[in-house]
Amino acid sequence: MSNSSFTLKGITSTAIHTASNHNAEHAHLTPIYATSTFTFNSTEDGAARFAGEDKSKIYTRLGNPTFVAAEKTIAALESFGLKNKNNEPLKLKALLHSSGQAALATLFLSNLKTGDTILSHYALYGGTYEVMHKVLTDTGIKTIIADIRNTDVLEKTLKENSSIKLIHIETPSNPTINCIDIESITQIAKKYHIKVSVDNTFATPYLQQPFKYDVDFVIHSTTKFLNGHGTSIGGVLIGKDDEYMNTKVWKWHVLLGSNTSPFDAFLLGNGLKTLELRMDRHCSNAMKVATYLQNHSAVALVNYVGLPTHPDHAIAKKQMKQFGSLISFELKNGYTAATKFMNALKMCTQAISLGTTDTLISHPASTSHLGVSQEERLKFGITNGLIRLSVGIENSEDILNDFEQSLQKI
Ligand SMILES: *Cc1c(COP(=O)(O)O)cnc(C)c1O
Repeated sequence: MSNSSFTLKGITSTAIHTASNHNAEHAHLTPIYATSTFTFNSTEDGAARFAGEDKSKIYTRLGNPTFVAAEKTIAALESFGLKNKNNEPLKLKALLHSSGQAALATLFLSNLKTGDTILSHYALYGGTYEVMHKVLTDTGIKTIIADIRNTDVLEKTLKENSSIKLIHIETPSNPTINCIDIESITQIAKKYHIKVSVDNTFATPYLQQPFKYDVDFVIHSTTKFLNGHGTSIGGVLIGKDDEYMNTKVWKWHVLLGSNTSPFDAFLLGNGLKTLELRMDRHCSNAMKVATYLQNHSAVALVNYVGLPTHPDHAIAKKQMKQFGSLISFELKNGYTAATKFMNALKMCTQAISLGTTDTLISHPASTSHLGVSQEERLKFGITNGLIRLSVGIENSEDILNDFEQSLQKI
């Protein structure tokens, strides 16, 4: 723990020192507390922990010191430099989950019940779309998908559907890389007393802080940029209402058993320390790759919010510090060219997922979005020829050389 009389000014210092550990054994880094349970010194001690009077750990499903280190760091990054309504530093509560999907499940189940509706938008992570349409529907929770980037559509939908209790947005969104103005959504949602949650996986708290615009919840698949090295699956749900997080959200989280593991939390905690450094490189590489693709004669379309030609460039500029590492693009000869191009790459890796040190390339229609019907996919702009890239932190000339040699073969 950093000395409270010494205020950290930088986001990387915050990422490194928020949870720096000085335990009884003087371990430099937070150890992996590979233990299912924690001992009580006496029956009174056990009772005090269950009563919440003593915050020491009880049982790993309910919390573990290795989780706490990463949770505190993520909360510190999402609230970095932000103030609450009373002009005091914003305090957030983060809960690690076994996956991004588990964090989404806790978010939805702790906020919605049978008869309630989620309002969301086109182009969502495939898994999120499937939870809404294939799982929540069985519990009587409905989802309305609308183009809520248009505030008239948003207001009209809210007026017509009083059962909407949560607006869930992803920005930038997957895989067509669109942005939604978080501030305009929260301003309207507040008027109708509706909560707003943001999936901040693509941007990370270094590039975008949704709590700045007074959202209620942020979720991440920590599997991606927060871990940063592709070494584990994980998720996190972050909220600003401490009481709600510690009661309603906590209940669903621990009773449905969606906790992460000490080893995964350790890997995540380590990854967080280099977030700023990695993101700076991811973003500058992505800008070079997007510019290269846009100028290439074989390329029909490039979706990258960093390009001034992207329709959501202005929104991205308003709410993001830089433009992230996700790009999608189409080659002129569609699916056939996409297949040839991807198979001819020599360095870049064919895989789903994103936010790892290496450049990952995937074909959404046949992989991540196979569970979404072709009709729905096309509505979202996910054509059969669309290729998605998570630009890594390799030296940019190697990524560009790999693309160049591969594009010559299509
Ligand atoms: C990967 C991802 C998820 C799901 O997270 P898992 O860790 O795979 O469960 C949710 N949202 C976005 C934007 C993602 O990229």
